[in-house]
Amino acid sequence: MSMDLFDLHCDTITVCNNKNKPLRQNDLHVDLSALPQGSRWAQAFAIFVPDRYRGEAAKGFFQENYAFYQEQMAKNADRILPVTNYAELQQAFAEGKFASILAIEGGAALAGELEMVDYVRECGVRLLTLTWNGENELGSGSATNQGLTEFGRQAVARMEEKGIIVDVSHLNDQGFADLCRIATKPFIATHSNSRSVCNHPRNLTDEQFCAIRDRGGLVGMNYYRLFIREDGVSNHISDLTAHIHHFLALGGEDILCLGSDFDGAEIPDYLNGLDRVENLRAALLAEGLSETIVQKIFYENARRFFENYL
Ligand SMILES: [Zn+2]
Repeated sequence: MSMDLFDLHCDTITVCNNKNKPLRQNDLHVDLSALPQGSRWAQAFAIFVPDRYRGEAAKGFFQENYAFYQEQMAKNADRILPVTNYAELQQAFAEGKFASILAIEGGAALAGELEMVDYVRECGVRLLTLTWNGENELGSGSATNQGLTEFGRQAVARMEEKGIIVDVSHLNDQGFADLCRIATKPFIATHSNSRSVCNHPRNLTDEQFCAIRDRGGLVGMNYYRLFIREDGVSNHISDLTAHIHHFLALGGEDILCLGSDFDGAEIPDYLNGLDRVENLRAALLAEGLSETIVQKIFYENARRFFENYL
């Protein structure tokens, strides 16, 4: 059965490159042959740049993974197209193909140079997660407590100017508050859940969720077991849907999305792979959500956002 799915985050590109596996027909969460052709599947593929890379090493790491991404897109052009604007996204679906949006996870990729924002934009990057869990030139992640740096503020302004969407997943609370003071455009959390439901610093507080909502951003639900439940043991999909119901109660109907964290996280059996995402749709419908709201979460909210900002 074909399906509509817009997923804001996976780490598959970096893992494939690392393990020398193809994007199509592998044993990973994301496999280009997992969904039937004709599905309107848009996937943000992140190049994950670890905190430890600096300067030329960071640039080199990005470039190596970017070359792999381009190679995989070219090899699979019969099935998926890299898209950098909304018209290209529509074109991919019109041709019966999937759509790929290039992202960077970890602002270390910028190597502390504002010109790198322009460079990665030229490469087709449209989303950038400011930090990972540690510190980089822009700010600090959820394992630390410093806010955005001066370079981080400048980079955000440059990203907004050039059309790269700011992603706050992994950013710590201080950095989030700093961003709220300087951001002039909507920002998103590609793969973060609710801290009220599961108390983990990678999850969003209600206040943060509402700040994203009020600015017209997006929040993608993460399938990582430790962000779903504090004990990390989840045998039932209702553990994840609890986050969705909580955010809906906070007025999240138009900003909730999916951000699987596929190939970057340990995922409970019920969602352990792209071909199981249908389980989430079925669970939400069984729990009483309307087709309209489920379609918003799976596809429509992200589609509308990218129509406006991609
Ligand atoms: Zn992540």
